Amino acid sequence: MRLLRKKRIYLKERAYLLLMEYEELAKAYDLLEKTPKRLKKTSIISSLISKTKDEDLGMVLLLLRGRVFPDYEEREIGVASRLVLKAISTATGYGVNQVERLWSTKGDLGLVAESLIAKKSQNTLFSSDLSVRDVFGNLQKLAVLEGQGSVDQKVKLIASMLSSAKPMEAKYIVRSVLQDLRVGVADGTLRDAIAWSCLEGVKPNYDGESESIKPDSREEYNEAVGLVQRAIDKTNDFGLVARIARKGRNELEGLKLVVGKPVKVMLAQKAATIQEAFKAVGTPAAIEYKYDGFRMLVSKQDDEVKIFTRRLEEVTSQFPEVKEYVLKNVKAKTCVLDSEAVGYNSKTGKYTAFQSISQRIKRKYGIEKMAVQFPVELNVFDILFLEGEDLLGKPFGERRKIIESIILAKEKKIVLAKQIITGSVEEAQAFFEESVNLGNEGLMFKKLDAEYKPGSRVGYMVKYKEAMDELDLVVVGAEWGEGKRKGWLTSLVVACRGDDGFLEIGRVGTGLKEKREEGLSFDEITELLKPLIIREKGREVRVKPSVVISLRFEEIQKSPAYSSGYALRFPRVTGLRSDRSPLDIAGLEEVEDAFFGQKK
Ligand code: ATP
Repeated sequence: MRLLRKKRIYLKERAYLLLMEYEELAKAYDLLEKTPKRLKKTSIISSLISKTKDEDLGMVLLLLRGRVFPDYEEREIGVASRLVLKAISTATGYGVNQVERLWSTKGDLGLVAESLIAKKSQNTLFSSDLSVRDVFGNLQKLAVLEGQGSVDQKVKLIASMLSSAKPMEAKYIVRSVLQDLRVGVADGTLRDAIAWSCLEGVKPNYDGESESIKPDSREEYNEAVGLVQRAIDKTNDFGLVARIARKGRNELEGLKLVVGKPVKVMLAQKAATIQEAFKAVGTPAAIEYKYDGFRMLVSKQDDEVKIFTRRLEEVTSQFPEVKEYVLKNVKAKTCVLDSEAVGYNSKTGKYTAFQSISQRIKRKYGIEKMAVQFPVELNVFDILFLEGEDLLGKPFGERRKIIESIILAKEKKIVLAKQIITGSVEEAQAFFEESVNLGNEGLMFKKLDAEYKPGSRVGYMVKYKEAMDELDLVVVGAEWGEGKRKGWLTSLVVACRGDDGFLEIGRVGTGLKEKREEGLSFDEITELLKPLIIREKGREVRVKPSVVISLRFEEIQKSPAYSSGYALRFPRVTGLRSDRSPLDIAGLEEVEDAFFGQKK
């Protein structure tokens, strides 16, 4: 008996030694929140990483980005502000009304929790220390609780964390639960911090204050940071990259793409004319139809097929027919393909615009019926991996030959992107007209000797389209409707991407439908936005930027009314872009291009 107890104590101590305390992370959050300086942030994170054991690295790096699941998992913590408010009340003994009043003055439930826990703790002693692992595990649990009684369970779980938390810890627990961390850690900063702390000889002599550093050798520094970036783009796993980086540069360099895990796809630049497109990719170039569907990264390993969107979300179960096409028509045991899935009308065989198949992406039920009603054709245009070999470094021309050799093309099922190789402007123009007449968006110009760069918008791939008339924007606010729209969010505030966050560009309600069958409806957008509400004042709400919609408009005007400096005239919602993240939306440059373009 005594021996057993001794062993238990020993195990407990051992476990204790291994676990990082949450307080350590909360202190780092606090330092990060206090400084806007990127280098200082890098230095804070780099020190934190240095203190973190391998076992905790994955958790710490996810939590720093306010997440508990990798980017490619669909699960979100998804807890509404109301519920957190209740949990704060339960943990502190203050009434819900009192908590709510404090919320309206402080405007941030994290600060509310911090101050109420501080008041409470003057009367009690802390009973336990929270570890990073405890908090991480509980946050993950919140995401999986579902069904009857889950609301109460969630409140209890949050309240129990808050009861053991110190005031500053409570602030960040609440913000993590609400997925609104406000510490400003960009992925690029994390990447640099990994390079500083895990790779030898990279950390610059940094005094903790200045805005710029002079690493001994700028070239070597950039190379190290680039090495970390490439590893992240391939694996989308900061924890794994940091752990491998600790082993050395060679190991990091050798990190392969993992079949079955999503990879960030390569993106395209834009050209205004065919000449410009040729200039960017050189002649002769490969030119392909630009299909108007959505990006699908497909991985195959024996009988297992996985399909990911460009947001890295897995959508395999939503597209059973695509899985079947890949199993039947791809002659490879293991491969990773890049492609565009395009909808077509099953009666006429004509391609349809993206919006008609967009509803399939989020669909959980009636999948087979949807597959018949809104069929897709897979247009394969690239390959990243084949039979154990990473193909990222191979020239595009060779990669294309490989897909030609392994895909048994079948119209309306799986085909290769239609391609010509030419350096002639006339031929390209004729190909463009052919493409657009078939219902496509335009052309993609591709550099024949270019490697595949995951996650980059390098000029290896250039798009050439007809005049732009549609923008993808993110919803950052809305207004509660009145009268027959009561209970619905209306008048959406939309924003484009700026250098440091999102810039508003207008309000839109037109185009939203009364019924779901007709397209993106008030009720659906309300359901999507409600859990994202961060602040409310009267009928106005602010939401966490997450939901991306497409808009058409008559004109763009200069306007001081919105933070972008522009406003859309007669905007109309054309649909939901559930395959896009706020990082994929139109940037201010694109808005400016459109503004000046229309003047021409
Ligand atoms: P857009 O709204 O014009 O699609 P974007 O910013 O969303 O632009 P880009 O990467 O700039 O995306 O444009 C290229 C997109 O076009 C790809 O992401 C892919 O989904 C699609 N596409 C269609 N046909 C092809 C093709 N043959 N090769 C590569 N990409 C293609």
